[in-house]
Amino acid sequence: MKRDVIIVGSGFGGLACARQLAQAGRRVLVLERQAQLGGCLQSFRRGDLSFDTGFHYVGGLDEGQQLHDLFSELGLLHLPWHRLDPNGFDRVTIGEETFALAQGFQPFVETLAARFPAEREGLQRFVKLLEELPPLAEIGGVNAYDYLCSTFRDPLLINVLSAASMKMELRRESLPLFTFAHVFSGFIKSSWRLRGDGGLIVQSLADDIFRCGGELLCNTEVQELVERDGRIVCVRCTNGETYEADIFISDVNPQLTYRWIPASQRVKPMLRRRVEAMENTIGMFTVSLALKPDALRYFNHNKYVYRHPNVWEPPCVTLGETTSVDRVMIGCRVPESGAFTRQVDLITPLPWDVCAPWADTRVGHRGEDYRQMKRRLAEACVALAEQVIPGLGEMVLRSYTSTPLTWRDYTLSPQGSAYGLRKDCSKILLTLFSPRTSIPNLFLTGQSLMVHGLEGVAMTARETVREVVRC
Ligand SMILES: Cc1cc2nc3c(=O)[nH]c(=O)nc-3n(C[C@H](O)[C@H](O)[C@H](O)COP(=O)(O)OP(=O)(O)OC[C@H]3O[C@@H](n4cnc5c(N)ncnc54)[C@H](O)[C@@H]3O)c2cc1C
Repeated sequence: MKRDVIIVGSGFGGLACARQLAQAGRRVLVLERQAQLGGCLQSFRRGDLSFDTGFHYVGGLDEGQQLHDLFSELGLLHLPWHRLDPNGFDRVTIGEETFALAQGFQPFVETLAARFPAEREGLQRFVKLLEELPPLAEIGGVNAYDYLCSTFRDPLLINVLSAASMKMELRRESLPLFTFAHVFSGFIKSSWRLRGDGGLIVQSLADDIFRCGGELLCNTEVQELVERDGRIVCVRCTNGETYEADIFISDVNPQLTYRWIPASQRVKPMLRRRVEAMENTIGMFTVSLALKPDALRYFNHNKYVYRHPNVWEPPCVTLGETTSVDRVMIGCRVPESGAFTRQVDLITPLPWDVCAPWADTRVGHRGEDYRQMKRRLAEACVALAEQVIPGLGEMVLRSYTSTPLTWRDYTLSPQGSAYGLRKDCSKILLTLFSPRTSIPNLFLTGQSLMVHGLEGVAMTARETVREVVRC
């Protein structure tokens, strides 16, 4: 049966497009290589607890704010959203000192200006930028680090403002102010956790897709887009199946997408070379901790801990007997009842070099040395987290870890990249993608196009759907 639209990849971007197009009456089919829907948003269950993989909090969900509109369109406002502490939704610890980031632009300024009085004017200018979010044409070429250095004099404040940005790749040479401002802005407006796991988002979108007659097929990996007379006619999967449609959307990293059409005359060699030459953002090491009951009181914020005031330096990971990490993000799950949390997540960026020795291995078959490496890294994350949660190690019942290799093997993200293709302010237009491609019925969506994170991906999905509807 020929569908109207086939969407490759069931990450948040793919599901968002599928839901909107199914609601608009299109016959959609989503193809997902994994056994579970959701990509970075999927959760996993161990015993009586379910853990998130790539989702912890969102920003800008209050009425009138950007994510509120996007989630309203996607039917996600009914989920049990839980507001984080207005006086400090993120708490940044650098060395011995902790700084609270408050919600709301003015409270944000006031809290930080109390500690950095000489920087009040810079803070006002900074929040004005976050409030207005100038368009790409205006700030696309501006480097985030250079902007911070020209706005603030105190290097500690620059570190504090950037420290909660483990939700992007803080790369001094390339991170565009555009990305920094877009990701940061929503969280300062308002910050929210889900009372439950990211699977609730996936389930809600999938239910809506089914209700509108859409189809979702897991364990189906696309390996080729078959082109005839300059248009894609079907996808061919690794299991030998083919699926036909009028329109195709890829929610997969564009580097992989263009490899599915190696001989297309419509894709200029220069574009191919440009896409292949792009680099991907760093991957993450995650530790999901199941805690003993009544051991840790729920904290209604995220904690970011840096051993040194070196936020903009590449992460420093040492391996061996004295394995250590120099930064960690700590989130926790809203309890279903009572005052104690059962789950804490720890995240630290992990350079691919650390995983490279096992690059040729498969999930579950990587050997004892890999297991040792993960165990030591998890202990190092817990040790750093203990700086702000004393005794955390003693509270742990079980822990589960993932490395960039895990991500690579589940989502096919190159080198386990967490946030997709790297954006570079020195060549911004060459590192951003339009949902349109040179093949008239092939479209792109997902975190590699413009801005990553749920808000960025939802914005891009909205653009992709607009282009498809226009087509
Ligand atoms: C550790 C971590 C923490 C994060 N925390 C947050 C957070 O707290 N808040 C926030 O807003 N964002 C967060 N993010 C970012 C956010 O999760 C992502 O930006 C977003 O979910 C990406 O969605 P996507 O649709 O672009 O891609 P993905 O989720 O990567 O989906 C792509 C899908 O395509 C599938 N696929 C790949 N190749 C094929 C193929 N050949 N055939 C079929 N299917 C294929 C993959 O299996 C995958 O399911 C986090 C990310 C990570 C990694």
